[in-house]
Amino acid sequence: MTKTFMPAVETEDELRDLQLEGLKWTVNHAYNGSPAYLKKMNDSGVKPGDIQSLDDLTKLPFTTSSDLQEGYPFPLLSVPLDKVVRIHASSGTTGKRKVLCYTQKDIDDWKHFFARCYEIAGLTTEDRVQLAVGYGVWTAGLGFQLGCEAFGAMAIPAGPGNMDMQCQFLEDFGTTTMCCTASMGLLLAEVVNKRGIKDKIRLKKMIFGSERHSDAMSRRIKELLGLEHLFDLPGMTELYGPGTGLDCIHHTGIHYWADYYILEILDPETLQPVPEGETGEMVVTTLKKEAVPLIRYRTRDLTRLVPGQCPCGSILPRHDRILGRSDDMIIFRAVNIYPSQIDHILSGIEGIGSEYQIILDRKEDGRDYMTLKVERAQGIDQEKNTELSNIIAGEIKNQILVSAKVDLVGYGDLPRSERKSKRVFDNRDE
Ligand code: ZN
Repeated sequence: MTKTFMPAVETEDELRDLQLEGLKWTVNHAYNGSPAYLKKMNDSGVKPGDIQSLDDLTKLPFTTSSDLQEGYPFPLLSVPLDKVVRIHASSGTTGKRKVLCYTQKDIDDWKHFFARCYEIAGLTTEDRVQLAVGYGVWTAGLGFQLGCEAFGAMAIPAGPGNMDMQCQFLEDFGTTTMCCTASMGLLLAEVVNKRGIKDKIRLKKMIFGSERHSDAMSRRIKELLGLEHLFDLPGMTELYGPGTGLDCIHHTGIHYWADYYILEILDPETLQPVPEGETGEMVVTTLKKEAVPLIRYRTRDLTRLVPGQCPCGSILPRHDRILGRSDDMIIFRAVNIYPSQIDHILSGIEGIGSEYQIILDRKEDGRDYMTLKVERAQGIDQEKNTELSNIIAGEIKNQILVSAKVDLVGYGDLPRSERKSKRVFDNRDE
């Protein structure tokens, strides 16, 4: 039998049993191992013995990014420091950084479920995986690599950037799968196209890290490179790192690893569950994490659960793509707007490219104004500007009930970044 990295259980009931066992273990472990968790639980009057069913999860207090910041440099640590074999951190100024510790078992667990990503993406040990992701304390390219090696495919640890080298590796090593950000994927697709080397490469799949990207951007990359599949790989440093789920080849949502963590989707204001299928904040509770377990950790990421069953038949539940950050919400003329909503609207309009910027200004009349800079698609003449602007402004008005001025610019005029592209420029004074 081929090696599999899927959950050890086969039915949803068994999965729930596994979750309850993991939840009890985690609460006990955190209570006894971490003074910070002990205090939090004492303050909210809950003891490990109170957790007897999965519904008891709601008795537990929330954990937030300020818990992680307050405990700098080794917050919420629940094992002795000599059990810690590695740290990773989120970027940010000193004191704002979140540093997360890992035991060897945490690293092994991460490796195991990262190997599952490649399995879900339909790779085999014949595949060659170019890892154009960052390596280091901030960005966990190591997760991509350990998972790839455990899975048994060939890892090519290229690192990010350097398009000449990336193209050469694609040609020379016969790369079949590329892991990178969507922005870098687009840049690479354009370079490959410009150099006319598409026929010399064997690239079939791309796996994108957690950066948000529009459907239009995905279509463009897929088309330029003639790819079979693009996958979305979510992740955050607090929850091991990248690789906490992946969409399967049916692309009906991201299967997430419910045998490693419980996902709640809550209204960020009321902290109550949203109705199934509606958007809310992801709140995670780990089931096996030793060094820094997370109990009801508020991620600030927004998504929704995808109801029903995936055609692939997996018992692993699905969440949608990350639809934004609850912190990214723009309040414009008293309307709450997530950049992902604008992204979605632009993706549905013919004749425009995948790049755009949202610019917010406060003018002398004291009112706020929104300008959208949008690229025309390749080959679309600027005579179309007025027509396209009107269509875009109309759709924005219809769907999110605000007025925006639309400036069309030529294809390729907005900056491309190898990392994350900045899309919101808020020039309003606080
Ligand atoms: Zn599936």
